[in-house]
Order: sequence, then C-alpha cells, then structure tokens
Amino acid sequence: MARVVVTGGAGLIGATLIGRLLDRGDEVVCVDNLITGSWDNVAGWVGAGDIEFVRHDVSKPFEVEGRVDVVMHLASPASPKDFAELPIQIMKVGGLGSHNTLGLARAKGARFFLASTSEVYGDPLVHPQPETYWGNVNPVGPRGVYDEAKRFAEALTMAYHRHHGLDVRVVRIFNTYGPAMRLEDGRVVSNFLVQALQGRPLTIYGDGTQTRSFCYVDDEVEGILRLLGSDYVGPMNIGNPNEFTMLELAEVVREVTAADVDIVFEPLPVDDPTQRRPDITMAREVLGWEPKVELREGLGRTAEVFARRLGI
Ligand code: NAD
Ligand code: UDP
Repeated sequence: MARVVVTGGAGLIGATLIGRLLDRGDEVVCVDNLITGSWDNVAGWVGAGDIEFVRHDVSKPFEVEGRVDVVMHLASPASPKDFAELPIQIMKVGGLGSHNTLGLARAKGARFFLASTSEVYGDPLVHPQPETYWGNVNPVGPRGVYDEAKRFAEALTMAYHRHHGLDVRVVRIFNTYGPAMRLEDGRVVSNFLVQALQGRPLTIYGDGTQTRSFCYVDDEVEGILRLLGSDYVGPMNIGNPNEFTMLELAEVVREVTAADVDIVFEPLPVDDPTQRRPDITMAREVLGWEPKVELREGLGRTAEVFARRLGI
C-alpha cells in the first residue's frame, strides 16, 4: 500500500486515477485549487474520509506531512479554451508547479510521475507520432503557453532524474475524454455531446478534416498505472491510435445521442494541429498495454452521465 499525492485530482483524469488508486488500497492526498476541476468529482471521497483533500495552487510551495511514496503531477488546465483564458496560470503550473512537486518528491524520496501531453509534438510533421519525434511547436502562438510549459516540465523532470537521481516517469497523454469532464470544458468531445443532448447544432472549427485520436479515460488511467509500476522512465505515449476527423466525430456523436442536429462551421483556432495520432508501439511492448474501449462505447457511457448531469 502506497501513500500517493495526486495534484489535479479533481479533474477528469485525476479523479478517475484516484478511484483506481483507492480500489487497489492506496492512500491518496489530492492537491487541487479547483481552477478547472470539479468539487463533485471528489466530494464523496472527502465526505467519507477516503482521501485527504488540500485546496491549494501547486504553483505556490507546499508541504505534505508524513510519508509520501509517489507524487503524481496532473495539475494543469488542459483545454484550448483555457489556453486563452488562463495563459499565465498554465505556464506557472507547468513551470513552478512542476518544480514544487519535484521538490516534494525529492524531499520525501518518492517516485515522481509527470502528466505530459501530445501537445509537445505541436502541429506534427511526422505521423503517427513516436516518442522520438521532437515536435513542431510555435512558442509564441496561443497554444505555446501550454506546449512550452509541458516541454519545460519534461525537461525539468529529466534534469531531476539525471542530476538528483530522482525516480521519475513521464507520460504523454493523447486526447482523453470521459464522464468526469466539465460540461463547459470547451474541448470537442464535451462541446459536441452537450450540444447534441441539448438539441443544438454541433460547432465544427475549420472544415472538420483535422484529426484527433480519442482515448476513453479508463484506458488512459490503466496505461498510466502500468507506466507508474514499470521500470520505464519514458516519455511514453498513452493514447488510442484510432484516428477520426472532426466531421466523423460529429457523426458518431449524432449516432450515440440519437440527436437530429445540424452542423455549423466556425473559424479554426490559430495553430490548431492538423493531425494527431499516437504511435503506441512502446506502450504495447513495454507495458503490454493497448486501449480497449471503442469511441462509440466511450462516447455512449459519457453521454449517459452527461444527460443525467444536464437533467435530461
Ligand atoms: P482537467 O482540467 O479536468 O483537470 C486538471 C486539474 O488540475 C483540475 O482539477 C484543476 O483544478 C487542477 N489544477 C490546475 N491548475 C492547478 C494548480 N495550479 N494547482 C492545483 N490544481 C490545479 O484536465 P484533465 O484532462 O484531467 O488533465 C489532467 C492532466 O493531464 C493535465 O496535466 C493535462 O495537461 C494532461 N493531459 C490531458 C489530456 C486530455 O486529453 N484530457 C491530454 C494531454 C495531457
Ligand atoms: N473543435 C471543434 N469544435 C469544438 C471544439 C473543438 O471542431 O466545439 C476541434 C478543434 O479545433 C480541434 C479538435 O476539435 O481541431 C480537438 O479540439 P480539442 O479542444 O478537444 O483539443 P485539442 O486536441 O485541440 O487540444
């Protein structure tokens, strides 16, 4: 049984991860300032005394009393909507927040786990993206705040590993969705599902030919836990390699929600990647991991919970 500090534990991936850690008997300390997360995601555990919850901005120094075996740093706004609204907070949590959580892991002699992202590949010129690809990032564009913060976090994590001998793992997460997302998160899956469930047109940015590869959160968390438990430092891609255009995604959303809604086209955001798909050869070989939940099934499960949350 380990005592695990999870930053960003009130968010989509963090909350799903905490559920799995508790199932296997770990103790959890969740540190989150709720800037993009949801209290509802952790309220039950906090109320029942199943986890310790610390409301704190991890960009500011903090301490955790007692033994800590693992520090998992997931705190960061992650939706492109946030890149415009929270640019400084994003840079701070990727930079200062990573420094503070690495320092905590070092002080406690704990393993450190960094949630990085496929955005380190920017608008990729290599397709699908293997971990060896160095990326194509515009550092001064609107997405630069997120991409560069995560690239800095990866570099800092590897510096702690090489210089201080810290035990680290780095995952590169590709577009992950699931029931614990905020309804107003702004990412394409939550936007389309909420629009379809409310009978409103689906907003496609650009012409809808850009692609993403969507991973259901339970698959993502399984991959994260396997990487955490392995000897492999990373970085490692964890994502679903099934690739869809946004036009195709809109069709699947209409199918699973049985919604008779139109599509409207809106301007494509600046620097929006044209294609994204993980090469997961490494995860298959090292972890024996691959995703199991097909898009239709994952969207169906998410739509069901979203409908309840919307009171439909
Ligand atoms: P999310 O917004 O649902 O969760 C992020 C959590 O971090 C929220 O609970 C938020 O309140 C918390 N947080 C943000 N800044 C904080 C700060 N300064 N101090 C304390 N808490 C803070 O997003 P998510 O999709 O669950 O993403 C989790 C992690 O995975 C992030 O680091 C994100 O960059 C990474 N990631 C996610 C995806 C994805 O598709 N979901 C893809 C790549 C990487
Ligand atoms: N997108 C869209 N309609 C929306 C929201 C997003 O067409 O309502 C597009 C967006 O331009 C991008 C893709 O969907 O090409 C995925 O966007 P998301 O915000 O989910 O995440 P990203 O992968 O861009 O970080």
